[in-house]
Amino acid sequence: PPAARAVGLNKVYGTGSARVVALDAVDVDIPAGRFTAVMGPSGSGKSTLMHCLAGLDRPSGGSVYLGATALDTLSDGQLTDLRRREIGFVFQSFNLVPTLTAAENIILPLTIGGQRPDAALLESIVAALDLAGRLGHRPAELSGGQQQRVALARALVTQPQIVFADEPTGNLDSRTGGRLLGLMRRSVDEFGRTVVMVTHDPVAAAVADQVLVLADGRLVDQFSEPTVDQVL
Ligand code: ADP
Ligand code: ADP
Repeated sequence: PPAARAVGLNKVYGTGSARVVALDAVDVDIPAGRFTAVMGPSGSGKSTLMHCLAGLDRPSGGSVYLGATALDTLSDGQLTDLRRREIGFVFQSFNLVPTLTAAENIILPLTIGGQRPDAALLESIVAALDLAGRLGHRPAELSGGQQQRVALARALVTQPQIVFADEPTGNLDSRTGGRLLGLMRRSVDEFGRTVVMVTHDPVAAAVADQVLVLADGRLVDQFSEPTVDQVL
């Protein structure tokens, strides 16, 4: 099966005059072991789609599958367990713990579960993200780009099957952004991971294998092996 799939996905926020249809009958397949980019204007439903696919948010209608598992059959506790085991998520706002150092933030998903990090894995992630000199710093002592890389390291440290990243290059200069894209590309090509990334950046989207385009809560376009011209 695909790594993740949405069938007839609906998400409605609020009621009455505050009612917003964030997703409207969206069908998407996220192929396993491939890199998918999600594009579309601000407010088109990209973050909502990511949150529903990652089990962070319950849909209003339709179904979400992770592999063969229908998320609506899981209790909140089961969903949390599945998320911890299978999913890495990089939030737009990073969600780092301000009182912990970068190193402590990175290994937090493991320490919560009473696990120790694999030293070789940790070293390779830290090196690839160029964070070695920043491990003892707290988030407030890091630049936005460094915080973003810490958040990505934290999402990779559990070696999840699928990683969701909400505008991971949004706050990075083009060199750092390029390095981060390279790392995600390598996670897919060398380690068979599945990556789903929201981006506004055509250069970033062109690194993906598949591009999904949302507008007003609907899937309006979809193509494989994108060229920069297609995603502009
Ligand atoms: P995008 O990521 O493409 O910018 P979002 O998924 O964040 O889009 O938002 C889609 C629509 O849902 C927008 O109209 C947004 O204002 C609305 N929305 C998102 N989150 C909430 C929320 N928690 N409560 C109410 N409306 C929301
Ligand atoms: P080697 O196994 O050749 O020493 P590395 O030091 O690059 O390779 O990585 C050690 C282990 O860490 C790998 O076996 C792999 O499971 C994991 N790993 C490294 N980088 C990544 C990555 N970007 N995404 C997922 N897993 C990774």
